[in-house]
Amino acid sequence: MKEDTIISYFNISWLSEFDGPGKRIVVYLQGCQLDCAWCHSPQSQPSKSPLLFFNQFCIGCHRCESACKNNGHIFVNGGHFINRQHCTGCGSCVEACPNSSCNRNTGALQLPTKKVEVSSLFKMLKPQLELVKNSGGITFSGGEPLLQSGALAMLAKLCKDMGIHTAVETSGIVEIADADKLLPYVDTWLVGFRLHQGINKEPSPEMESITYKFLSHISKKEGIEIIGRIPVIPGYTNNDDYLTKVKELMDEFPVNRLELLPHNPESAHYYKAMGIKPIIPYNKELAESTYRYMKESLEIAILS
Ligand code: SF4
Ligand code: SF4
Repeated sequence: MKEDTIISYFNISWLSEFDGPGKRIVVYLQGCQLDCAWCHSPQSQPSKSPLLFFNQFCIGCHRCESACKNNGHIFVNGGHFINRQHCTGCGSCVEACPNSSCNRNTGALQLPTKKVEVSSLFKMLKPQLELVKNSGGITFSGGEPLLQSGALAMLAKLCKDMGIHTAVETSGIVEIADADKLLPYVDTWLVGFRLHQGINKEPSPEMESITYKFLSHISKKEGIEIIGRIPVIPGYTNNDDYLTKVKELMDEFPVNRLELLPHNPESAHYYKAMGIKPIIPYNKELAESTYRYMKESLEIAILS
């Protein structure tokens, strides 16, 4: 079995109206090489599934503790903790837990990532693809979907062969060779304009240069649509230097429009389930004022 025929994803949204034109299926691919301070899906970053623990669904039965051969579950002083250094992601505790299963993303313990043959995933998607065929299409998001460019190109081709509109959501911080594998099969590119490195608040010239090369390369292909998508992150993407660079990229390349992605309060649940603290906690007032500031600064007509 060739590795490129296997694809790894952590979620599927069966009907989205926010991730490309019309009504869309969104497949979220596992793995990301970046470490954005505001990451909305921390569970997407590792190349393999992290064990997620949703304490609010735990009934304290200790079955997970008995099922784990690696002392992955620790009960101390009334608390239940995951020893992540010992966890191999084997799934025994998930199957032992009375309200969890490796086959679904609900319950106290979850291993969200599925690793499947491209053909199997396509077979599963096909009935819904028929439903959105005339009203939207499919979007591949992540994580960084281009890290699985070989398998993703196969899947995108299968979708194109049945007349489905395809979109890829990417940071643009990728190898050109990976973008090339997808170029023949992608109608819309949703590009993240990720100009920050890690927790640094100022845009990085290196990230800007990679984004420039990426946009320069994909924009040579005729007939594609490019949509810029930037997250609303107080202290980061409302930085005037960043906004100026976004405007420069918009002027330089045929970006059809720009969308602002509001800071997602839901991501806090995933940080907690992974036992880590968000670097930028959600603050409703700040998120809303930052959104207004960015909208005015960018003077853009179409916003999500
Ligand atoms: S996934 Fe496996 S190794 Fe990790 S805590 Fe559960 S049983 Fe232990
Ligand atoms: S098996 Fe599930 S419900 Fe029981 S203690 Fe472990 S996580 Fe909680």
